[in-house]
Amino acid sequence: MDREEPLFYDEHFRQKRKHDKWEIVTAPHSFAPIADTHAHLDMLPDPGLSLARAGVHEVAFVETIVNPAEDDRTTFDELDGWLRDGELYVRKMGSLCCGQAPYRCPKVRIGYGVHPHDAKDYTDELEAAMEMRGRSDGRISAIGEIGLDYHYDLSARDEQREAFRRQLSLAKRLGLPVLLHMRDAHDEGFAILEEEGFPEAGTLLHCYTLDSHELARWVEAGCYVAFGGALTFKRSEEVREAAKLVPLDRLLTETDAPYMTPEPLRGTVCGAEHVVFTVERLAEVRGFAGDSAERRAFYQQLYDNAIRLLDRPQVAAKEGE
Ligand SMILES: [Zn+2]
Ligand SMILES: [Zn+2]
Repeated sequence: MDREEPLFYDEHFRQKRKHDKWEIVTAPHSFAPIADTHAHLDMLPDPGLSLARAGVHEVAFVETIVNPAEDDRTTFDELDGWLRDGELYVRKMGSLCCGQAPYRCPKVRIGYGVHPHDAKDYTDELEAAMEMRGRSDGRISAIGEIGLDYHYDLSARDEQREAFRRQLSLAKRLGLPVLLHMRDAHDEGFAILEEEGFPEAGTLLHCYTLDSHELARWVEAGCYVAFGGALTFKRSEEVREAAKLVPLDRLLTETDAPYMTPEPLRGTVCGAEHVVFTVERLAEVRGFAGDSAERRAFYQQLYDNAIRLLDRPQVAAKEGE
């Protein structure tokens, strides 16, 4: 990721050319509202700018991830400010556009969970604080990202398993769905879910980058599966094959911004707005081409899936259990 990348305060997407020149890339058309079900807004250089750009491209919902083992404050304190900044930016951008209905920043809700990398820092106190926030801050709509990462092994595996189990039961106590991060650990991750039971509020397997063989059991277990930038990479043929097998009502899109920038913008910083490239590719993969009613319905379905899973009112938590 190029940290020196300049910020452009408009709605265009740009590709880097030689000699620090930036060339505008035609943006995909948005056929319906779009959701980014996994972004790290707190890692972006200007979250408000990304929200504004996303809004102009009709991204209407963003789930932003907060990892309380790393930073339990910034997003909770700053999110309203990011949205205010975004509304100011979006008004300026709107005037550059074709004068349809005014653009708005997406609605943002929060996925809240200790990443497996930080499982070593999972404590009783942290869990108690998370539970309190989960019951009191209505912006939290899921527990995650949680899971196992045996690729980097930044926490010991038994600590990862323990933090994963405990956050699964936290999610159940709060009546919230879980957002899973699984890397090189799908067997154990799946076994733990079977033992503990899949949360009734839903399970989302984030950043799917494997083949259709692995996918089968997750789909059978009723999971939602989210595809990000990897779906667009040239060598990701098997990921695209897998994307064909997810039932339409459990298929989702995401960015994992600032990582995983989709083609044709690989090598630049990813924002929530980049999800439009992934949606376009996913539509292609699922056989919805051109400007058809079926294609619009497909976009709408992806969006409805995200809202159904991640934007429901927080009932269970208010009632307590
Ligand atoms: Zn992840
Ligand atoms: Zn992530």
